[in-house]
Amino acid sequence: MTDSSGIKGVEDKRALVLFSGGQDSTTALAWALTRFAHVETIGFSYGQRHGVELTARKNVLAAIRSGFPDWSKRLGADHQYHLEALAELSETALTREVEIALSASGLPNTFVPGRNLLFLTYAAALGYRRDLLILVAGMCETDYSGYPDCRHETLQAQAQAIRLGMDKDFQVETPLMWLNKAQTFELAYQLGGEQLIEIILEQTHSCYLGERNTRFAWGYGCGECPACQLRAKGFEDWQAGAYERVVEPSPKT
Ligand code: ZN
Repeated sequence: MTDSSGIKGVEDKRALVLFSGGQDSTTALAWALTRFAHVETIGFSYGQRHGVELTARKNVLAAIRSGFPDWSKRLGADHQYHLEALAELSETALTREVEIALSASGLPNTFVPGRNLLFLTYAAALGYRRDLLILVAGMCETDYSGYPDCRHETLQAQAQAIRLGMDKDFQVETPLMWLNKAQTFELAYQLGGEQLIEIILEQTHSCYLGERNTRFAWGYGCGECPACQLRAKGFEDWQAGAYERVVEPSPKT
């Protein structure tokens, strides 16, 4: 398949990526940019105590635009919305100054109930208006910390609800769903080589505490919170080649 510019392997379709500025959504964005002719991004602010994430999104987008000319041609508008009600509704470690811990239910208290369901619904509302019917998101069941709204089954059920509720043929694509963090690094490497890995290490943000003063081999963070530990281990395993090579080959553009 070719897009309007005749580039092989790119489908003439329009996609919207849920983009937070973290490693996973940056990899999902790169995946979309190698597949679809037109890609836009959407992000939300909801009183995250790490507003640093919102700065990271802008920096990642700028780095992709300047570093990947082919991707840049396909990368359209970025949309950012305020969902302050989500912060008011949730009492979690991501939106309040409380320590990250496991709650009585066994879920980390970083869980914002229904967050991804809301994000996808907002994304679909925007996608409906802008004819972006492929919704791409970086959720992952492998390292998902038990967040029930990261599950394949949840997201595909919601995709069906969106198709019915908006009477449009939306697809929800989650290219990272079955990958662990080491495999996510490998996917990024296959999609964008060292250059994309460098953007991920230098610009993306995962740390729950919003810490960016210390640079480790795997990027910036506190090094202690669950997100940092997951990313550190993933990077270490990837570098050591200690992961199963299940990553699909990417189309070369
Ligand atoms: Zn951290």
